[in-house]
Amino acid sequence: MQMNPRLSGLRCIRCTSLWLPDDYPEGCPSCLAAGHPASLECGYDGPDTDVDDTIPMPVLAPLTLGEGATPNLEAADLARAEGIGQLWLKCESANPTGSHKDRMAAQLVSRACLAGATRVAAASSGNAGVSLAAYCAAAGLQADIAITRNCPPRQREAMQRFGAKLSAFEDSLARWPYVADLCRNHGAFAGTNYLNPPVGTHPYGVEGYKPIAQEILDTCGPPTDIIVPTARGDLLWGIFLGWQHLLQSGRIARLPRLHAVEPYARLSRARAAGDARGLWEGITDQYSIAGGTCTLQSLEAMSRSGGTPVEVSDAAAAQAQQRLERRGVTTELSSAAALAAVSRLRRSGVLDAESSVVLMVTSDGRRG
Ligand SMILES: [Zn+2]
Repeated sequence: MQMNPRLSGLRCIRCTSLWLPDDYPEGCPSCLAAGHPASLECGYDGPDTDVDDTIPMPVLAPLTLGEGATPNLEAADLARAEGIGQLWLKCESANPTGSHKDRMAAQLVSRACLAGATRVAAASSGNAGVSLAAYCAAAGLQADIAITRNCPPRQREAMQRFGAKLSAFEDSLARWPYVADLCRNHGAFAGTNYLNPPVGTHPYGVEGYKPIAQEILDTCGPPTDIIVPTARGDLLWGIFLGWQHLLQSGRIARLPRLHAVEPYARLSRARAAGDARGLWEGITDQYSIAGGTCTLQSLEAMSRSGGTPVEVSDAAAAQAQQRLERRGVTTELSSAAALAAVSRLRRSGVLDAESSVVLMVTSDGRRG
């Protein structure tokens, strides 16, 4: 495990200022001071040889529990039913703790070790908390996880089995000051956002999602559209970074459009306002993509790729969940929402008979 010597710096996605490689859990310091939390994007020096075409990552030989290389299943029947060209299910549920978060945890917890941290603090009542707890256990680090009181018992138990220390709070936003205090004053390494308005998770962690783009390209060629269940947008942005690398290295001719699925209008309203800062609360059973906030990185991933936000009701997500189950694929509700989003995008003409679409099956909901 070592830092990638090619990692040359970080660039703000909002003001484009450059920063030396280091830990910036609160994003760009300049934009934060100006009241606009903004993520940083890793930059790398070119490879030493032309034959090195691997996607660069911040930590080389990271701690691993076997994450990544997940199945990408073709679903021709669903493609026919939806009236699109091709449909694929990228099954992130196949990761070690059952969600895409393991890719981020592998890079983030490895970085925490290299930075000399002994504990990782995070606000999560779901997949991120379980994943960070597992990777911290593997690394021998303490995981401090702030959960909400309505955290499902199975999520709570999973974190505890991995040895995490849990602290329960009344609601989602109430967790962030606790995590902020641990990170700012008690030497904890930040495993999730803790700002309000929020910023993306540590950029080294988000980089962990980039190989998803390569894996999709390797199994089904370049898709036209990718549909991503989205809350704070780490996965959406990380996948975008992967495709951006493939574009810049000449391996694809154009970016796929990245569409963000949400249970109620957050991103569409933020996009209309031209400002990701705001609180758009709603009630939903789509647990993993709930919450009233969104982030600049989500807006950027959509605008730079030509994608759009898609609202999916709980009822539509439940119907999609049943359709997937009837063909043997189990998903959590917020993952099934991606299939419901296909129907909406087809009806509105964003997708057509030529579209080649990948759905991000973020988790199978085994702890729902
Ligand atoms: Zn900035």
